[in-house]
This record gives sequence, C-alpha cells and structure tokens, in this order.
Amino acid sequence: MINRLHQILGDKGLITDPQEMHPYLIDWRDRRKGNAVCVALPATTEEVSLTMKVAAEEGQPVFPLGGNTGLCYGGVPESQTEEKPGIVISLQRMKQIREIDAAANIVTVDAGVILADLHEKCKPHKRQFPLYLGSEGSAQIGGLISTNAGGTGVVKYGPMRDLVAGIEVVLADGRILSDLEGLKKNNTGYDLKHLFIGAEGTLGIITGAALKMHPEDTNDAHAWVSVDSPETAVRLFTEFQDKCGPYVEAFELVSGTEIDAVVRHIDRIHVPFDTVPDWSLMIELTSSDTNVDLNGVFEEILGENLENGSVLDAFIASNSQQAEQIWHVRHSVTEANKIEGMGLVHDVAVRVSKVPAFIAKAKEVTAEKFPMATPILVNHLGDGNVHYILMFPHDYWKSVEDPYALTDEVQTCVHDIAAEFNGTFSAEHGVGRKLTGELKRLSDPLRYEMMKNIKKTLDPENRMNPGVLFD
Ligand SMILES: Cc1cc2nc3c(=O)[nH]c(=O)nc-3n(C[C@H](O)[C@H](O)[C@H](O)COP(=O)(O)OP(=O)(O)OC[C@H]3O[C@@H](n4cnc5c(N)ncnc54)[C@H](O)[C@@H]3O)c2cc1C
Repeated sequence: MINRLHQILGDKGLITDPQEMHPYLIDWRDRRKGNAVCVALPATTEEVSLTMKVAAEEGQPVFPLGGNTGLCYGGVPESQTEEKPGIVISLQRMKQIREIDAAANIVTVDAGVILADLHEKCKPHKRQFPLYLGSEGSAQIGGLISTNAGGTGVVKYGPMRDLVAGIEVVLADGRILSDLEGLKKNNTGYDLKHLFIGAEGTLGIITGAALKMHPEDTNDAHAWVSVDSPETAVRLFTEFQDKCGPYVEAFELVSGTEIDAVVRHIDRIHVPFDTVPDWSLMIELTSSDTNVDLNGVFEEILGENLENGSVLDAFIASNSQQAEQIWHVRHSVTEANKIEGMGLVHDVAVRVSKVPAFIAKAKEVTAEKFPMATPILVNHLGDGNVHYILMFPHDYWKSVEDPYALTDEVQTCVHDIAAEFNGTFSAEHGVGRKLTGELKRLSDPLRYEMMKNIKKTLDPENRMNPGVLFD
C-alpha cells in the first residue's frame, strides 16, 4: 500500500517515519495521541481521490486532518481495529485560491487554505470572508466547514454553514462530488453540501469550497461596557438590535472571573475601568458605509443606559490601538485559562433570551456540587453560546483520584442543565471523539437513527474517521 501511495503522492506527499508523523497523530493540546500507517499529503483533489481509492481497496480507515485546532479530538486518528491502523490525510499542501469573483461575491478555494490567508487574499478585492476566530492562523477551510465553526461575527454573518455556497468532496470510495457552482438560487432537490458541513470528516474529505464573501467592513467601532448582570446584557442586546441591528458584528459577554485571570497571566492587558467589571460586554459595530457614525451610535445607546443606570460604565475605543486593546483581552482567555488551573470547558447554547436563566441555574447547581471550582464564563451572547468553564485549582486537580470520572460528572451536570433549557451541548466545537456518548444520550432518538442511516449510506464500511460522532 505504501508503494502505491508513494507512486501517487511522491516523496513530498507521504510520511512514514514515526517521528515525522508524530505531530499529525496528536491533538494540539497534547492530550490524546493516535496511530496510523502513514500520513498522506496530497496536493490536488485528484491525488486525494486516488489515495481514497487505495484506502478503499486496502480496507484502511481514513482520518482527515486540517489545521489540527479542533477541540474534540476529531483529528486524532484512532482506528477501531489493530490490523488496519489507517491513513491520515492532511490537506496542508492544498492551498490554492482557485478564483475570486467579486461580482458574485464568491471565492473558490482548496480546502487546505488557512483562514487568515484567505482574509488577506480577499482584501485587495474590497471583500471579506467574515469568519473570525482565535485559531484563524492555523485552522483550514476544510476543518472549519467540517466543524461548522463560528467565531465572533456569527451575530451578523452566521456560522460556516451560512458562508458556504458549494463544496467539492471526495467520497469514501474515491469518487468526487463537485458542487462548486456557487449559485444563489438552485432549487433542484436535496442540498447535499449541508450533509458534509459539520460532519467532522465522517462522510468524505472536503477538498474545495465556494465561499460567500461580503463587502469589506471599512467602518468599525468598539466598546467595552460594564453591566451588573446577564439580564441587563440581554436587554442591551435587544436594544442594539432594535436601533442598529445590521451593524452588530460581535456581542460578547465575559465574567469578571475570566477578566481577572487574563489580567493575572497575560502581558499588555489594559482594563479601562477602576475595577474589573462583574460582567463585561465587548461589542463591535461594523459597516461597509463609511458615512455612518458608529461611535455616535454607541454614544447614543450607551449614554441613555448610563443615565438610567443599566450600564455601570462604558469605554468606547477612539482609535484602532484602543480597539486592539479590548480584543486582546477577549482573545487571551484560552492562554490565561491554561495557566490559571484545570478548566473544564463546556460549549453549550440556548436561546439568547434564556442565557441569564441558564447561567443562574448552572452557577447555583455547580456551586453546590463542585464548591472547589470557580465558574468562568465567556459567551458569544449574540448567538446564545455559553462557554461555561469550571476552573479547578491545579493543586486540587492533582489530588483528584479519578479525574476522568470527575470530568464526566461535571460535563453531565452542565449538559443536563442546557438540555433543560432546550439547548445544545455543542454549539460550535463539534462532537469529535470527545462527546459521542453525549450525542447518543441527549439526541432525539429518531434524529440519531437518521444520522446513522446517512452514515451507512455514504460510508457503509465505516472507514471515514471512525469513532467520530458515533461510538
Ligand atoms: C485558540 C482557539 C480558538 C478557537 N476558537 C473557536 C471559535 O471561536 N469558534 C469555533 O467554532 N471554534 C473555535 N476553535 C476550534 C477550532 O479552531 C475549529 O473547530 C476549527 O474549525 C477546526 O479547524 P481545523 O482546520 O483546525 O480542523 P482540525 O482540527 O484539523 O479537524 C477538525 C475536524 O474536522 C475534520 N476535518 C478537517 N479537515 C477536513 C476536511 N478537509 N474534510 C473533512 N473533514 C475534515 C477532522 O477530521 C476533524 O474531525 C478554536 C480553537 C482554538 C485552538
């Protein structure tokens, strides 16, 4: 098999040396390691197709890998059988921007293009691809589609699912399904691209995509607002939507416990208030119309709310450096939390209107059950997405007899509360190999059965990323 793959992929396209393979077998946090016969690095869709045909003939499982920034171990190759360890297929060499069509607002790319590179390529065309997230320097388009990623701009532009106009996929048997027309209107039956968006590599390998660009937002304004509670934050979000809905790009709610951790552990942090707020709203307004006075919009809405006491304090950035200072705090949370302690992160979502009640209930229940942990909250409030993090001190965690059991207990507790509010246990990070049990436990049984039937139809031998989504 290695010889056949070598003929297709050449020296640059195949890794078999265990040491060189190592970074492709382990998740980015070094928490879980898999195994594989080799790592294939195809440079074209045709090479992916030929590789998949060899894998099919050999009965080898296939593990697609993008930028390896996923948080649910979906990119860790774990075969279900020892005799067939499988092939990792990394798309890192597939980096072509195939076409930029500014009139149609469509950019067609190889799936291995890194998100930050795509941002740069769109700029000269006065367009943007409006997905922004902390991992954009490494995450690839194929991985972002496969996990249906969402960043800070979801309020305005939606998650990846709303930004994909078409995809090209290599199926388990090596056939290529191409749907890159990028049409705005096409009512010809099932829209198959949606099956592959969020499928986490279990149905095929995404090799290309037609993505929706938007006019560049050349006008922006940024504010950091101190509020007393999540209830006030939701009231303000509603008011912003009423008064300037189309401009709201990011509406993030961060707890004081998180800002405290960032201040303690990260350099160059500037908090523009005398004390760290109990609850911070970080808001971005954007527009492609440079005539709109976005700072004026902030002044009007926040001014009124300062007067009536809803807003405790507010800082509106008056230049790009001050804006950068605000978002530096927001983007530093992952790094700060790693130093702070053992943070058990939950990625739940409920309706925006239910966020305050969810937070209140989760804090009450977890305080009683896990009194040694501090709740830290980072929320994409505009999307109802709550990252409910229970932070255990490092020393305490080291003394826990069975950390896996405790992790499961905490997870079940938080996910059950989200379910009580008709929410989801995975808003944006996916299911991967981490949450397969939760998918089975918390899904509607009919939905679960239908998903398994789709998997069986497209991948009858269960060779596409086995162990992901379904145990
Ligand atoms: C600092 C940091 C911040 C983050 N912030 C966010 C955030 O705000 N929002 C968010 O949604 N996520 C966030 N993430 C999670 C992560 O970046 C996303 O899940 C991202 O979409 C993963 O892309 P990737 O290319 O790294 O995919 P990988 O991690 O390589 O893979 C993820 C899954 O997709 C599959 N896959 C990868 N490429 C393909 C392909 N071409 N075809 C088929 N399947 C494929 C893999 O098998 C795996 O199951 C963050 C991660 C980090 C480290």
